[in-house]
Amino acid sequence: MSDIFEIDKEYVANTYNRFPVDLVYGKGSLIKDNNGKEYIDLGSGIGVTAFGIQDDEWKGAVIDQLNKIQHASNLYYTEPCANLAKLLCEKTGFKKVFFSNSGAEANECAIKVARKYAEDKGVKNASIITLKNSFHGRTLATLAATGQDVFHQDFLPMPEGFLYGTANDLDSIKELVANNTVCAIMMECVQGEGGVIALDKDFVKGVYKICQDNDILLIIDEVQTGNGRTGKLYAYMNFDIMPDVVTTAKGLAGGLPMGACLMGEKVKSTLTFGKHGSTFGGNPIAAAGAISIISRIDDKLLLDVKKKSEFIIKKLSNKDGIISISGMGLMLGIETKKDVKEVLKYLMDNGVLALSAKTKLRLLPALTISMEELDKATDVIIAACKE
Ligand SMILES: *Cc1c(COP(=O)(O)O)cnc(C)c1O
Repeated sequence: MSDIFEIDKEYVANTYNRFPVDLVYGKGSLIKDNNGKEYIDLGSGIGVTAFGIQDDEWKGAVIDQLNKIQHASNLYYTEPCANLAKLLCEKTGFKKVFFSNSGAEANECAIKVARKYAEDKGVKNASIITLKNSFHGRTLATLAATGQDVFHQDFLPMPEGFLYGTANDLDSIKELVANNTVCAIMMECVQGEGGVIALDKDFVKGVYKICQDNDILLIIDEVQTGNGRTGKLYAYMNFDIMPDVVTTAKGLAGGLPMGACLMGEKVKSTLTFGKHGSTFGGNPIAAAGAISIISRIDDKLLLDVKKKSEFIIKKLSNKDGIISISGMGLMLGIETKKDVKEVLKYLMDNGVLALSAKTKLRLLPALTISMEELDKATDVIIAACKE
């Protein structure tokens, strides 16, 4: 066993059940471990390295910024932060951006925006509706927002102010709205950690209408689905809606820690001086990396994402041991007859890194993965699932 496994187990908090692989080098969608074994990467972290490992243009942008200034407090202006906010707003129609360092923090910001929006109207102690089987993060408020009891266990009491509706059951949302003071509804258009399950279009549009009719904010958590992952810049764009708030993180800065909370017309002035902040938020290195990523997510790249998605779905459909395929774009969940742990082990032994979500095999490859790499990796998946 590698020394690194021992040292990590001894000194790093044991919150992760790591695969026994020490990753040391990568380029694009190929990654090598410390023994020189090569893997095709179908996880890109967990949907983080959107353009693969060491993408040349991204690396150039990050290094250019490193050669200028690596950090300045938010008491000063820096160019990448301002330009990234402008780019995100121009590409989406949102009006203002608050930058953080993770997905959970982006959601914390959205929760604060929703509560203050209600307070500014004179509504006290309003609740936020989220969905059962959702995932919104690991901070206490985002844990409370996460509609899965298993995540709450051992950490009680949970922060108050969250109610849980049922995905694709509009009546469950209507009932909660009718019987409570609700300031926002927060949901993922494709539930990621919950098992890569896309919400029904009618449900999403129905929730949008309930929000519009009742002056309730619609918050879409795009931490995982955002930044080109589903074949649109943001997943909500697949559903003919315009949310009031969108949160994102994972793929945003191509592998550097960054989260963003995008605020629309209704809430563009809700956060005022002193009401929120972050020491590292809007860091110039992360922002330079994010500009490199976001500016290259154009129609051609998004069309490629859809083509690659169709290729995977077509190739894996009706294969021995594969029950169903869910998700959108390059965010796919594969229901297998074999235990997913067994499938992942076979894949790793045979040079493919992938993920799981609940009982499904989950694929979140880099948006730039080549067709050859996808072809090879899906051959291995077919072999892994075969009974
Ligand atoms: C990963 C994830 C989060 C949490 O992001 P962190 O960066 O780990 O804090 C929140 N929401 C969704 C939908 C996610 O997939």
